[in-house]
Amino acid sequence: NRQIRLARRPQGEIAAEDWEHVTEAAAAPGEGQFAGRTRFVSLDPAMRGWLDDRRSYLPPVGIGEVMRAGPVVEVTESNHPDFRIGDLVVGTFGVQEHVVSDGRGAFRIDPTAAAPSAYLGALGMPGMTAYFGLLDVGALKEGETVVVSGAAGAVGTMAGQIAKARGCRVVGIAGGADKCALLTEELGFDAAIDYRSEDVRKALRAHAPDGIDVYFDNVGGEVLDAALANLAMHARVVVCGAISQYNSATGVQGPSNYLNLLVRRARMEGFVVFDYAPRYREAAREIGNWIAAGRIKVLEHVVRGTVDDFPRTLQMLFRGENTGKLVLELL
Ligand code: NDP
Repeated sequence: NRQIRLARRPQGEIAAEDWEHVTEAAAAPGEGQFAGRTRFVSLDPAMRGWLDDRRSYLPPVGIGEVMRAGPVVEVTESNHPDFRIGDLVVGTFGVQEHVVSDGRGAFRIDPTAAAPSAYLGALGMPGMTAYFGLLDVGALKEGETVVVSGAAGAVGTMAGQIAKARGCRVVGIAGGADKCALLTEELGFDAAIDYRSEDVRKALRAHAPDGIDVYFDNVGGEVLDAALANLAMHARVVVCGAISQYNSATGVQGPSNYLNLLVRRARMEGFVVFDYAPRYREAAREIGNWIAAGRIKVLEHVVRGTVDDFPRTLQMLFRGENTGKLVLELL
């Protein structure tokens, strides 16, 4: 059983030496357990935060522990009444080839309804994040102007398309001309801003002349500051993530334009998607309907390899090398 374990805590960017590649004997399932083979590993920016020894919404991954991840696993052996051989299951099984589980926190997916990898993206955690972040935390209303950063990523592509499906005007912010063209030409965004080559603050003023009603923030840093400078009255700033800050060895850069929240009577609110677990079914149903109706396109970036490719695949997120949901398919 090949595994990726945390060898030491990264300082700033993750280095190859921060991981340990280990092979151990594959355990057999005990009474009430099943065993499975990992098929798809999800890559998530949050993984960077889980490596730091600091208080957060989950405890950090311990040194020497298998890296935390939520893959799709195929059941190969079962002594569990709810899981049968051939079932595809999602759960927090970690970055390893072989899994043994008692089924706690694991759920069966329906591969006839959508591709297995979609349960890690559009119908999985990123889809749920976009849905509840926008509709619940952002209290989105039809006809509003929505700006999404990290717009060409897993959460961003979903957030922008959900806002369109709900009748909003949507501006995406992403890195590079290709990603911006994809947003407007393929995904129905009304406008896109390339934060690498444009003055974001100016571009936002041009594309959202009446101000931003909902800013869905995936990146933090300077882009957040530019959005704060362009808020409409009673705007909602949804703090989903701040990937521009995750590798900072010197601490997180806070926004200097936050007093515009006061001027615009706006609010800024963070959330953790796991709190919405009791309502995932509701979101998955509505997202599924939008996909079936062709109103939402599912965008995936699949890398094929082995668990040993996990470290370099994870780096792609921090270099903007993925478009849509980044997944490692094990061969
Ligand atoms: P993405 O698929 O969006 O991948 C990350 C993207 O971030 C890259 O493709 C890149 O796109 C962009 N990026 C990387 N570095 C920078 C930078 N320095 N400045 C600006 N953009 C950068 O990942 P996810 O969709 O999985 O996650 C998006 C965000 O949502 C993250 O912040 C994540 O932590 C957060 N999240 C929060 C959850 C919650 O419960 N609150 C749950 C799930 C995710 P580009 O080429 O455009 O730069």
